[in-house]
Amino acid sequence: MPPPEPYLLPETMSAGSKVLLHVCCAPCSCSILDGMLASSLKPTVFFYNPNIHPREEYEKRKAEIVAFAAKRSIPFIDVDYDTDNWFARIKGLEKEPERGKRCSACFGLRLERTALYAHENGFPFIATSLTISRHKRQDQVHEAGFAAVFRYEDVTFWDYNWRQKGGVDRGAVLARTEGFYRQNYCGCTFSIRMKEEDSQA
Ligand code: SF4
Repeated sequence: MPPPEPYLLPETMSAGSKVLLHVCCAPCSCSILDGMLASSLKPTVFFYNPNIHPREEYEKRKAEIVAFAAKRSIPFIDVDYDTDNWFARIKGLEKEPERGKRCSACFGLRLERTALYAHENGFPFIATSLTISRHKRQDQVHEAGFAAVFRYEDVTFWDYNWRQKGGVDRGAVLARTEGFYRQNYCGCTFSIRMKEEDSQA
């Protein structure tokens, strides 16, 4: 596989810029992290995903990205598995379809925590691997990202389209090469149920 092309950086960003990347799992983030390294950025992985159910699944997804980040010498920030917070945030939205209001609340919680950490720890940029998945609406995730940084003058949400220039295919090849486990549902208990209902339909 040829090396990744450097990203076209916004004017406010330059080689050496620190980026706090909210990461959902290794298959979605591996090519993004390699792209950032190829662009001479300094990424840090931020793992905050209290939506993932059950706990064993959460630990499995986390272990893979911990190992990949270590392999690339990328710092890793492990945040709380505060599921009570997540269930409180999505209360009343349990029956929403994927890409609906429950997902907006879920993105909001995760990206707000990312923005807060960036603000408190000197990261001028945040981004998320969530948008590389074709199962997600980029505009919905980006909306949550911009809202998350709204209160911080020192933090910018970087809304790069990771899917362009073969980003998805590169990720798929890398995930196969690395032998990553590929989950068949988004993460929360409701997405498992919807997957099961789809397969029975
Ligand atoms: S389907 Fe995915 S994005 Fe939507 S609420 Fe569940 S875990 Fe979050």
